[in-house]
Amino acid sequence: MSSLSKRLISLMLVAFIVVACSSTPTGRRQLTLKSDAALAQEGARQMAIIRANSPLVQDRATIDYVSCVANAIVETLEGEDAAMYWELAIVNQPDVNAFVMPGGKIVVKSGILTVAQNQHQLAAVLGHEVAHVTAHHANERASRGEITSYGVEVLALILGGGWYNRTQGAYGAASALNTLGIMNPFSRMQESEADVIGLEYMARAGFDPRESVELWQNMNNSSETTKVPEFMSTHPSGETRIESMVQHLPEMLALYNEAQAQGRNPDCQR
Ligand SMILES: [Zn+2]
Repeated sequence: MSSLSKRLISLMLVAFIVVACSSTPTGRRQLTLKSDAALAQEGARQMAIIRANSPLVQDRATIDYVSCVANAIVETLEGEDAAMYWELAIVNQPDVNAFVMPGGKIVVKSGILTVAQNQHQLAAVLGHEVAHVTAHHANERASRGEITSYGVEVLALILGGGWYNRTQGAYGAASALNTLGIMNPFSRMQESEADVIGLEYMARAGFDPRESVELWQNMNNSSETTKVPEFMSTHPSGETRIESMVQHLPEMLALYNEAQAQGRNPDCQR
């Protein structure tokens, strides 16, 4: 094989890697360089660690209540989202928080139940979290970290001089950025997207989407009296967020009415 055709093949491979992308449930094209399967495996591993090391809620009524809402949301999913091995852990901790990991692993801290005051409000939290998973947000975030680290490496090459030290420094910076890419909260754009998709999930499951506004108002109120709930520190709220939810309410109410008409009327009791 000539060196030219070898070079062409490697160029094509680079092009293939660079355009590796998927799309979110809203149809937004996104760049996802990591393997969803590898991230799901890591999610499952982290979930096992959380299960083994956290004080899990033992109270049957609470477990049934949160599972009932989570199941109703997950049942609205289709295709590969529905095929994921969804798992729920309820940790007995006062933090007002919930989060997800790739592959369908949902963690709810019991403190969130003091702010999400009924099944609809809890559905708003869980719908939002499930949306982060189905929209591949962790993959997108990690992929951004990879691009950034690649950028750092190229920058070190361009800067030249002290090759060894430069690259060592660049690798150090790159790995720090990668860690940040994985640990950082989702971006504003991802949060807004999860809000919209989450509203759709809760409405399709038959939960009242108007309660999402109540939930965020509860979050705001609780942050005035106590320290800012953790969920809010990673989910910057404020009026803009509530306003954008209100904007989407008419279409979500239509989905909610449709779900009700089809008999999807969850009754998750605490
Ligand atoms: Zn979020």
